[in-house]
Amino acid sequence: MQTPSSHIIVRTPVIDSIGELYATRGLGKKTVLLFDENTRKLFGDAIIESMQRQGFRTVELVVPARETSKSVSTAWKLYGQMIEADVDRSWNLVCAGGGVVGDLGGYIAASYYRGIPVVQLPTTLLAMTDSSIGGKVAINHPLGKNLIGYFHMPELVLIDPALLRTLPSREIYGGLSEVVKYGFIADREFFDLLAAHWSEIVRLEEPWLSKAVSRSAFIKADVVEKDFRETTGLRATLNFGHTFAHGLEKMAEYRNLRHGEAVTIGMVCALFLSHRLGFLAEAELREGLALLARFRFPRGLVRKRFLSLDRDELVESMLSDKKKIDRQLRFVLLDRIGHAFLHDHDIANETVLQAIDD
Ligand code: NAD
Ligand code: ZN
Repeated sequence: MQTPSSHIIVRTPVIDSIGELYATRGLGKKTVLLFDENTRKLFGDAIIESMQRQGFRTVELVVPARETSKSVSTAWKLYGQMIEADVDRSWNLVCAGGGVVGDLGGYIAASYYRGIPVVQLPTTLLAMTDSSIGGKVAINHPLGKNLIGYFHMPELVLIDPALLRTLPSREIYGGLSEVVKYGFIADREFFDLLAAHWSEIVRLEEPWLSKAVSRSAFIKADVVEKDFRETTGLRATLNFGHTFAHGLEKMAEYRNLRHGEAVTIGMVCALFLSHRLGFLAEAELREGLALLARFRFPRGLVRKRFLSLDRDELVESMLSDKKKIDRQLRFVLLDRIGHAFLHDHDIANETVLQAIDD
């Protein structure tokens, strides 16, 4: 019997066994490979050569390495290239890149010929631990991010942590905020491991890096498995720190504040809020803050921007987040490190503001 997350493979190098892995899922060997310009340069030749050696027929597509590639116009162009290359429903698509390539490629795979299988080959820490897992794929609309999309589960998620060696440190820290989030919401032991081996993980040292990546990927897969369409509130716990983060990102208009940085600040606020409302003990609050304090990002800049924010405006922009229900702020809180829950009752804006000020 297959375990729930048997489609997630963490292995170095993973691409050399892609033929065998495809066979286990009954996937054919006609593959469209989607890269962004950076991942094409970094890994394209090695991936294509290895796949061709294993008998694959490949067609490659390359998009600019930026968020705006998640657009209907880019998708339209790629459909055209696929039609011209005679790609039909007997093909599958591999997304080799970060979350941008994963979301865009997943969107194309979900729609092309009414859906072809997609395989995720994530190359950023955020993609390995978050965006490639769980089947949410989307492009952006000028009026909002990720609004147009599908649930399209990947047939395989092939994770090779060694691919992270070339990733800039700011992207590493960005991914680490989601990694730490999994410790907070679901796994006390994992939280302890992160705290004990933080320096090794930041330096991408094994076996700690692979442990951190695979534990994160499996926690996300497990949560998604149990609440695929966000009906029970469990999947919503993945948004720990994100209500604050989305408000911050919106106010900073995404300029020079990375998602992971906003999530780190958001988790600090969510820890304080959990404590203020009497759910989280003081000692655990301190422990949580101590781990978050080890994050490195332009702290001065973020702090300045954060402290100078208009608090009412921040609450207002949290309220405008698409995940709010009836203009009520819903927060994911902790009752201990390793366990999160969705707090559905109204929290006075005052209390939220106090948590921000803490
Ligand atoms: P990204 O895809 O833009 O990648 C960041 C940068 O790193 C890019 O310039 C890329 O070319 C480069 N890069 C990728 N791999 C590299 C490597 N190994 N070495 C050097 N450079 C490399 O960004 P991201 O943070 O991976 O993903 C962000 C996207 O993910 C957003 O669009 C977000 O909406 C989406 N997302 C989706 C989900 C989901 O569930 N579908 C979840 C979270 C985020
Ligand atoms: Zn996130």
